[in-house]
Amino acid sequence: MPKPRVIYWFRTDLRLHDSPALKTALDLKPECLYPIWTWDPHYVYHARVGPNRWQFLLDCQNDLSESITKLNPQSKLFLIREAPQTLFPKLFKEWKITHLVFEKDTDAYGRDRDDKVKELAKEAGVEVITRPGRTLYDSDELVKANNNRPTMSISQVQHAGAKIGDIARPIPAPKSLPSPGTPTLSFNQQKPASNPDINAIQRDAEEKSYDALAGPNNDFAVPTMEELGLKPATTPHRGGETIGLKMLDEIIANEDYTATFEKPKTAPTAFEPQATTLLSPHMHFGSVSCREFYWRVQDVVSKYKGKASQPPTSLTGQLLFRDMYFGAQAALGYAFGQSYNNPQCRFIPWHLPSEIDTKSGLITGKYLVDDAKAEVFFKRWKEGRTGFPWIDALMRQLKHEGWIHHLGRHAVACFLTRGGCYVDWERGAEVFEEWLIDHEAACNIGNWQWLSCTAFFAQFYRCYSPIAFPQKWDKDGNFVRKYVPELEHFDKKYIYEPWKAPILDQKKWGCLIKGDGTDTDTDTEDGTLRTYPKPMLDFPKQRDICIQGMKNAYHVGLYGKNPKVLDGTWRKL
Ligand code: FAD
Repeated sequence: MPKPRVIYWFRTDLRLHDSPALKTALDLKPECLYPIWTWDPHYVYHARVGPNRWQFLLDCQNDLSESITKLNPQSKLFLIREAPQTLFPKLFKEWKITHLVFEKDTDAYGRDRDDKVKELAKEAGVEVITRPGRTLYDSDELVKANNNRPTMSISQVQHAGAKIGDIARPIPAPKSLPSPGTPTLSFNQQKPASNPDINAIQRDAEEKSYDALAGPNNDFAVPTMEELGLKPATTPHRGGETIGLKMLDEIIANEDYTATFEKPKTAPTAFEPQATTLLSPHMHFGSVSCREFYWRVQDVVSKYKGKASQPPTSLTGQLLFRDMYFGAQAALGYAFGQSYNNPQCRFIPWHLPSEIDTKSGLITGKYLVDDAKAEVFFKRWKEGRTGFPWIDALMRQLKHEGWIHHLGRHAVACFLTRGGCYVDWERGAEVFEEWLIDHEAACNIGNWQWLSCTAFFAQFYRCYSPIAFPQKWDKDGNFVRKYVPELEHFDKKYIYEPWKAPILDQKKWGCLIKGDGTDTDTDTEDGTLRTYPKPMLDFPKQRDICIQGMKNAYHVGLYGKNPKVLDGTWRKL
């Protein structure tokens, strides 16, 4: 019986430790194992990925490749620049593959892509093996144990999880890896016959695109940011299994922190170091396994002499929240990512007419926040020039570093949607998608729905004040001073409300509060006075308007935006 020839397809699992799928591939005792990554045009060209997340991905790939080479000097991570749907049939043939193994993906697009690849493998006579490994529980199993319903609360996850049984203990990293085979791409060298109708420039481009499959040096290397034509990253947070596991070791070494962690008690204003683990980007790229994280924490908790925290506020509770969003996404598919036709997502007429005749359910007119105003609010929120230093500091940290604390995310998401601007959560989620290094579709979408009170959470009257809330954590405003340096010298009395400072003081502290933040010119003859915008809205007034709008929407009680809602005759169905 010939030995299996296996492709191991890395995607959401850029690690060697605790990979059930990799273990399964190695258990086949293959003659050769090709560790590959394929550039998926869906992510490369169509998704919103900023330079910081790109850098994190390349870091993870480089680190993984080096770790593979340490276990087998002939091997590494082979990067191939073609869509899996067209690449695999050629690889199956060329490398005489018998098995394709990968970690299961429950993202809506990932499922579609994998179904197509499975079909192609079947046609080529290649056996496909997948294993869950991205979440504590297999998300499909979790949904099944939740009576085939999306998991919409942490207690549903806990009940469904109890039916499934214990969370699996992590699997150690392999000690060696098989030969990577001979990764030729001869189909790549078979360039099409030269087309007489194309000119020299087109021919050159065509030939280059053929050569580029294994990279410009034909060595399957991880590209650089420069080679990809991307701007340099600005984040201080770097990726890779080695860094991720070291971070985890440091967290676990602090037993008090690990055992007594309570999310609501961690400061969103803390930086260098931040108050939470910052392991989320490693969770996203799979450079740290969530089960490794879970069990290392749980083992500390089990031995802890003092009073340990419990889910949902504990560290293990945070990982259960992650599973909750994956479970919701697994059950709802594409609909989860939007309001449209999403049966779990409450319909809110964001900057649409929102005065409703409560008897008939008909809209009686008036815009809560009209489109033009909403557009200005959105732009200023995104660009960190709302005039509310707490919100602007967070948005600037997000853009520059790609990560902000959970309660910081709460603050900016609530402010953009139901607690300030009344802008659709989907628009905010798109900005997070581009800028977060930990962007995880399930978690981002789910948390935006939570914060906008469209799903998961319904207490819309509880809003975050951009003034009182940060004061609770950071009376001196050090967080604001770091990310909004215009206000660096402001007295702490005015740090969250700089527009209230007397003009003379504004001048003394080097910054005038005026305009909308687009005017970056300095304002004095000697050019030393900076400007910071006035607040773009009257917060208490706007919050009350939003709460009224939410009350109306909840009263009508529609779920999932649909054409009936959009045609202007929004009525109780
Ligand atoms: P810790 O507090 O140290 O938690 C440990 C781990 O638990 C995290 O690494 C993360 O994997 C998981 N976790 C913690 N809180 C949550 C949560 N509320 N939901 C899901 N998982 C959680 N998290 C993402 O991973 N990707 C996203 O795209 C994302 N978008 C968000 C958007 C909004 C509007 C909000 C309010 C939250 C979002 N979160 C997202 C959840 C949460 O803010 C981050 O996971 C957390 O802040 C990451 O920091 P940490 O690793 O220090 O978390």
